[in-house]
Amino acid sequence: MLKIAVQKSGRLNEGSLALLRDCGIVVENGGDKLKAEASGFPLEVIFLRNSDIPEYVQDGVVHCGIIGENVLAESGAGIDVLQKLGFSRCRLSLALPKEGKYDGLSWFNGKRIATSYPNSLQKFLKKNELNAEIHLINGSVEIAPALGLANAVCDLVSSGNTLFSNGLKEVEVILKSEAVLVASRQLDGEARQLLDKLLFRIRAVLNARKYSYVLLNCPEERLDDIINILPGMKSPTIMPLAQKGWYSLHSVVHEDDFWNHIDALKANGAEGILIIPIEKMIY
Ligand code: ATP
Ligand code: MG
Repeated sequence: MLKIAVQKSGRLNEGSLALLRDCGIVVENGGDKLKAEASGFPLEVIFLRNSDIPEYVQDGVVHCGIIGENVLAESGAGIDVLQKLGFSRCRLSLALPKEGKYDGLSWFNGKRIATSYPNSLQKFLKKNELNAEIHLINGSVEIAPALGLANAVCDLVSSGNTLFSNGLKEVEVILKSEAVLVASRQLDGEARQLLDKLLFRIRAVLNARKYSYVLLNCPEERLDDIINILPGMKSPTIMPLAQKGWYSLHSVVHEDDFWNHIDALKANGAEGILIIPIEKMIY
């Protein structure tokens, strides 16, 4: 049985369980239960606080876990990132009152910075040879400047709305983060095998999320142009339509640049374009 730690409640919980579900692994998030056995895979899910997970993985209490990359950076635990998971994207940033005149990193010299991420901040200050005081706060860091507790904050930002509504502006990004699958460096044979299987499923789901399936109709003389736009996995499938001189073409398109591809297809004579989500994708 593989043991995985997942955040008990908070921003990572839903995305983590949704990823497992897309891998065919169903977990009942049973209220305040600490553990749940999944169906669809020999997996035991342990619900923990995000910030506690690196240590539990390092100590071998669980084999693997899903955490925010920023938490790993802060903990310094000796564990491996096996896979970036593409959700809960955010950044750890420095921000200051919006009326402040910011003229570069040296602004922070002699200033007091409120944060819940002292280790990441300390590392950044040291790397940039800055001399600032770190004021550790465990929650609601963004109100510290208004209370006169600090000159600036170092906090997680995703949309920037929290900073904005507290009269702060983001001036530097310290690190970028997303949810990651981490694992212990010492795994026995069985756990290693199960983890490889889980990772295979996760990658199939992540690949699928990045691509869509495209079907379109086009006249024979435009086929080559359209194949150039949509090379697909190996090459597109082409099937003749009942109407002579016309074809149906099937391929995949990446989410990056999706609309440019669609515009190019239309400009090259594609008609009746259908875009369909892909559930799993195995190369
Ligand atoms: P816990 O309370 O479980 O120890 P936490 O306080 O980090 O952890 P959340 O606030 O739910 O819990 O955040 C979980 C993770 O979500 C963060 O560590 C970060 O990786 C990510 N995240 C994404 N966007 C944001 C954001 N705007 N603010 C804070 N965290 C964010
Ligand atoms: Mg919290």
